[in-house]
Amino acid sequence: MTTPRSGPTDAYSMILDAIDVGTYRPGDRLVESELAERFGVSRTPVREALQRLETQSLLARDGRSLIVASLDHNQVAELYVVRGELEGLAARLAARHATAEEVRVLREMVEEDDAFRDNPAALARANRRFHKQIHLASHNRYLVQQLDLVHRSMALMATSSLAVDGRGAIAQDEHDRIVQMIEQRDEDGADEALRTHISVAFMTRLKQEAAQRKDEG
Ligand SMILES: [Zn+2]
Repeated sequence: MTTPRSGPTDAYSMILDAIDVGTYRPGDRLVESELAERFGVSRTPVREALQRLETQSLLARDGRSLIVASLDHNQVAELYVVRGELEGLAARLAARHATAEEVRVLREMVEEDDAFRDNPAALARANRRFHKQIHLASHNRYLVQQLDLVHRSMALMATSSLAVDGRGAIAQDEHDRIVQMIEQRDEDGADEALRTHISVAFMTRLKQEAAQRKDEG
């Protein structure tokens, strides 16, 4: 029972994935015909996917064009607060409810994802899969829905904290710690380990933004 390593195949997920890995960045214009060609699908599913993404505020109108929406500094900070709380809860519930198979899958993911330590795009994808597996292991469908919303909005941040030098390796160590806590059925420990992971990611992002401002003068 391993997760497929190839990308998604429906238009909505393909566009979302492309935003997530930075193929399309906040502010980029999305054109129906270009997307259809790039992904090798017809225009109707692309149009439907774009409408859905606009409804979810992942795309915004710029005149007659659709562009990838962007988050301002406050939105990013607000998102991390909610993410920390919900992810911590998911880890806590996973420590309580995860089946032995689900825990094994998490362990396998941590070990396999190690190969991506120096590949930020692959690591970002692997990271999404890892967190999604914890969400599912919480066995709480309402929490899964809320976390899906949070993770979709995360895709609107222009850069991934995993792209910062050395962050990928540290994040992998943090994932290892989270899985250890879930394996030990330590609910407080799992909650704490995941909150720490999200909080370090947020601090990494703040430092990255500060460095970029300095570079720009
Ligand atoms: Zn992570």
